[in-house]
Amino acid sequence: MKKPLIAGNWKMNKTIGEAVSLVKELKEFVRDISDRELLVCPPFTALSSAAAEASGSNVQVGAQNMHYEDEGAFTGEISPKMLKELGVKYVILGHSERRHIFGEDDELVNKKVKKAIKESLIPILCVGETLNQREAGQTEVTVEGQIKKGLAAVTAEEMRNVVIAYEPVWAIGTGKTATPEQAEEVHKFIRELLKSLLDEETSENTRILYGGSMKPENAKGLMAMANIDGGLIGGAALDAKSFADIVKY
Ligand code: PEP
Repeated sequence: MKKPLIAGNWKMNKTIGEAVSLVKELKEFVRDISDRELLVCPPFTALSSAAAEASGSNVQVGAQNMHYEDEGAFTGEISPKMLKELGVKYVILGHSERRHIFGEDDELVNKKVKKAIKESLIPILCVGETLNQREAGQTEVTVEGQIKKGLAAVTAEEMRNVVIAYEPVWAIGTGKTATPEQAEEVHKFIRELLKSLLDEETSENTRILYGGSMKPENAKGLMAMANIDGGLIGGAALDAKSFADIVKY
């Protein structure tokens, strides 16, 4: 049985002081939780302070992005080495905002995924279709392409430390959640795809998170689905009580 992973993506929100307060409050709410893994991903500037506040608790800290090189002339970028120094264990890669606002493509995402694995950081590879793609019947072909390219040259053994997040773009930050059945359909498709690309055991052991307007009110229904192994939460992760309520779905 895979331990569910509930991850919060804070995006470009929270100053250092606000981040520390949020982690402090969250720690209290989730003190007794041991049957699921918890992760918060603050902005880079607050990572160090959030990690210090989370230290010794069941709240883990992750990053929202990283570069695929160790160091060099990459203005504005952050390297895996810098993240590891802060005790970061997970890194979100290929988030739809990175893809659609900042133009990241699958080849770039794959470089980052490979580098994260090499550096023993666990990538959370995000995939998902836009509304136009869904309406054109292209959900599966879109997700398949993102997974095949994003995981190019990743071995079955390496997949043990990779998480996938299915995040339909039309559901992110819009208040429109995929129904549990809509989400499950794509999660099942991803599971089958992993089986055909790698092997059955790897496919079964891979955690596939759902992301897209997940809230305390809909978390239980989504998490009841056979192929949904956790959540990647944006807006509702910015409030300790609502994130904790999702964790306790
Ligand atoms: C996200 O940014 O990954 C996300 C799922 O956001 P929201 O929960 O706000 O839709």
